[in-house]
Amino acid sequence: MTARIIDGKAFAATVREKVATHVARLKEENGITPGLAVVLVGEDPASQVYVRSKGKQTVEVGMNSYEHRLPAETSENELLALIERLNADPDVHGILVQLPLPGHLNEDLVINAIDPAKDVDGFHISNVGLLATGQKAMVPCTPLGCLMMLRDHHGDLSGMEAVVIGRSNIVGKPMAQLLLRDSCTVTIAHSRTRDLPGVVRRADIVVAAVGRPEMVQGDWIKPGATVIDVGINRIDAPERGEGKTRLVGDVHFDSAKEVAGAITPVPGGVGPMTIACLLANTLTACCRAHGLPEPE
Ligand code: NDP
Repeated sequence: MTARIIDGKAFAATVREKVATHVARLKEENGITPGLAVVLVGEDPASQVYVRSKGKQTVEVGMNSYEHRLPAETSENELLALIERLNADPDVHGILVQLPLPGHLNEDLVINAIDPAKDVDGFHISNVGLLATGQKAMVPCTPLGCLMMLRDHHGDLSGMEAVVIGRSNIVGKPMAQLLLRDSCTVTIAHSRTRDLPGVVRRADIVVAAVGRPEMVQGDWIKPGATVIDVGINRIDAPERGEGKTRLVGDVHFDSAKEVAGAITPVPGGVGPMTIACLLANTLTACCRAHGLPEPE
């Protein structure tokens, strides 16, 4: 039996459609257009692709997109001054500072300067604390997308054994918090975990957020488990021609799909859900700012 392939691309399209419908209603009934400001410092090629894609999808769902592209040598004070202006701008409901920032800028300082109510990435210390204490928070987009796919596939997650591989602030830790909030029994594995395959074999739900191409093998997976592959790794693909590359996840897809009950592919799994959740978070931030009912 091969696994059900969870189609993140199609799921993300339905999330964007719902957001677009809600945005159209906000405009018509309340005269409000949600706005997302994206700040990019420097010329990191991957970041430029992400920012372009975010801007395009923001406009497609009917929101305003404000892009701020700053040179790599921008000073911390200049960046903080821009964030202060965006915090005060009533037309901006969400602010995203694209990471990583150039080395001379303190990421924690910059992220924590964003108004938590506009922190649509959910990285501000207040939102991290709100999530950890079970209060209403802005939830980081990638783990939120993973949770939505898991809920869609399983319905109730309560009592399930979940293993999250990776403990970063942007994926692993918030993912574990969300699974805990949904009453899973959660293990967080990392580079010092002993017998990782044995730990993963216990899991009904595996979330891999490691950044190591195809590390998780099929024989690590409990038969029937659901596998969410967050990893995005570019590897050489000589079989496609000289100098060619391809994207793979942190899971060895071909072997894992023979054992798992369901699995997300790379590309086309978690990736598309991340931007869809960013748009959903911006809409939520806008509704909260205006005291209007939030989307489900
Ligand atoms: P980080 O590098 O910040 O974290 C990686 C984590 O993996 C660390 O906690 C590290 O452990 C752990 N790790 C590293 N090697 C091993 C190992 N051999 N065994 C077990 N654990 C290990 O990465 P991110 O969380 O930012 O991203 C993870 C992956 O997800 C990347 O491929 C990234 O590109 C992708 N990503 C995808 C997104 C999407 O939209 N789909 C969004 C964000 C990220 P330790 O803490 O001990 O060092």
